[in-house]
Formats: sequence, structure tokens, C-alpha cells
Amino acid sequence: MTIKKNIEDFQSRLGACKLIAVSKTHPVEKIKEAYEAGQRDFGENKVQELVSKQEVLPKDIQWHLIGHLQSNKVKYIAHFITLIHSVDSLKLLQEIDKQGRKNNRVISCLLQVYIANEETKFGLSEEEVLSILNSAELAALQNVRIIGLMGMATLTENEDQIRNEFGTLRGLFQKIKTNKLPANVEMIELSIGMSSDYTVAKEMGSTMVRVGSSIFGNR
Ligand SMILES: *Cc1c(COP(=O)(O)O)cnc(C)c1O
Repeated sequence: MTIKKNIEDFQSRLGACKLIAVSKTHPVEKIKEAYEAGQRDFGENKVQELVSKQEVLPKDIQWHLIGHLQSNKVKYIAHFITLIHSVDSLKLLQEIDKQGRKNNRVISCLLQVYIANEETKFGLSEEEVLSILNSAELAALQNVRIIGLMGMATLTENEDQIRNEFGTLRGLFQKIKTNKLPANVEMIELSIGMSSDYTVAKEMGSTMVRVGSSIFGNR
């Protein structure tokens, strides 16, 4: 009952910004509750958990991988994944392309950019993003499509800091938009915002927020 209400509250508050319900660590029963409330986009951060949930849940769910992805695990998700938010190397893109080709699909990806003031978070620097986007290797890939950027702000109470970090990412997003881009790149999605900072993220132009604990409770 409360999951249903949380989903409805978020969907009405977010408007055009898409809600990715982050269901990591939560059982399939809870995902079904959210599904029954009309939620179709779900995010997981571990490949094994994602695959085992995908196998037993309705096939019209759109699955998002939001956690670090190792190249050797791409093959397990390539046949169904909707969007990989956490791409952090050209090598990974090349493997996603290879697995996309095997499955006769074009797999949508976001480049994860490091914006936080914390050492634990993954992601590319601005220079690395630009170097990937300008590379001949990327332009040659026919089974991946880069549709935007993802970032995580520092876990802090300081809203100005969060706004600055999201602002940096939005600045990069807008700068890239004005560049000449290869055919398989289009800057559409800005995946920023979690339970603690989604209101700031929405203000800063988020097109998709990834919300877990505020919907499903603490992990
Ligand atoms: C867990 C996670 C989220 C959701 O975090 P909450 O604080 O539970 O909303 C969002 N993004 C990523 C990358 C995550 O790993």
C-alpha cells in the first residue's frame, strides 16, 4: 500500500522527468507492488540480481543498470537491458556493441561522469568524456547509442554543493549538445538525482531521477 502511494506521489511531483525506481536489495514482491501502481522503469546496480529479477517479473518492465558494469558481464544483460547508466570506458562500450550485435539490438547507454567530491565514486572526467565522444573507435560502433550523461553528487547536506556539482554536469551536457557528434550520439537524457537530492536535480534539468529508499524504504 505505501509503495503504491510513494510511486503515485513521485510520479505526480516529477511531471515530465522520468522516475527510475531503484529496487536493488528489495525482493520481487515489492517490485510487483510498484508495478501494480503503474511503474515500469526499474533500476538495479548488480548484474546477477538484475538478471534473476528480470527472469521472473513481467516482460514489459524497462530495466536500467545503474551500477558499475564489468565487461565480462555485459553478455548477461544485452538481450533485455533498456539503458545502461554507468558506462565509464571505451572498452566497455566496445563490449556492449559486440553483445548488442550478437543480439541484433542497439543498446542505449549514458556516460557516467565523476562530479562528486568523494573518492569512492566511479566515472569519467570531462576530458575523458570528450575524448570518447571524439574518437574514431566510438564512431565505428553500430550497436550502441549514447543518449546522455549520468552523475552522482556528493552525499552531503550542503545543497549549494549539490547544486554546483549537478550544474557542472549540466554545463557539460549542454556544451556537448553544441558539438558536432557522431551518428550514434545524441544528448537527450541527464540522469541525476536520488532520494536525498532529486528536488535539486529536477531544478538543474534532470530528465530521469533514480530513487530507491524513498519508495521502497531503507535497505
Ligand atoms: C542506490 C542508487 C540510487 C538510489 O539511491 P537512494 O538513495 O536509495 O534513492 C541511485 N543511483 C545509484 C547509482 C545507486 O546506486
